[in-house]
Amino acid sequence: MNNYLENNLKEIRENIDAAKKKAGRVDDILLLGVTKTFPVEIIEAGIPLGIRAVGENKAQELVAKYDIVGNRVSWHFIGHLQRNKVKYIIDKVDLIHSVESVSLAKEIGKRALQFGHNQKVLLEINISGEETKFGLKRDDVVSFIEEAKKIPGLQISGLMTMAPHSDDTQLVRGVFKGLRLLKEEIESLKIEGVSMDYLSMGMSHDYELAILEGANIVRIGSLLYGKRDYTK
Ligand SMILES: *Cc1c(COP(=O)(O)O)cnc(C)c1O
Repeated sequence: MNNYLENNLKEIRENIDAAKKKAGRVDDILLLGVTKTFPVEIIEAGIPLGIRAVGENKAQELVAKYDIVGNRVSWHFIGHLQRNKVKYIIDKVDLIHSVESVSLAKEIGKRALQFGHNQKVLLEINISGEETKFGLKRDDVVSFIEEAKKIPGLQISGLMTMAPHSDDTQLVRGVFKGLRLLKEEIESLKIEGVSMDYLSMGMSHDYELAILEGANIVRIGSLLYGKRDYTK
């Protein structure tokens, strides 16, 4: 397993570097290991290889793995988050990628303050407009931020999206470009207390395109760890 992971990681890192070079970028890109459905051993195996941040999409699973691994990695929550689950993860996660409603944002802020911190969050945006996808509509984002920026305990730190699963690279890249343009638009508004530090986009099949459009967090699961088994 270690060799498998090491080889995959090496190849992905080389591809990340090549995409950065192609884009003329010298800034840092976080490779987030998406470990959902994989056993905790895979997180342990990644630590000496330098995978220091992992993404989970179920609160219960994150908590169970956190109990074993603790703060030896940085935990990110990347999935649809139910309000009643916020309290279980709020003292464990460094970044929540998937805020898409004011009620969820309020719950996150409230629980973060109970632990005496501001919670960094990204807003999940449905750039592609696919019905099946979660996320805020592009046109609603600025008014959402105007409301959410007032929530104590919440630190809006950037944007996240998922592209359609498609081999049409122009379509996929267009979605990533849309998120980058939205980020630039928000930055130009200079909204107090809101920063656009992170652009979380790109997964196993499209992370290079995302990097060309400015992603600085890529979320990679199957390409690193292998096929997921959802029956477990
Ligand atoms: C599962 C998941 C990923 C990783 O997907 P892969 O195709 O396995 O790389 C990335 N982001 C989110 C939100 C996910 O749920």
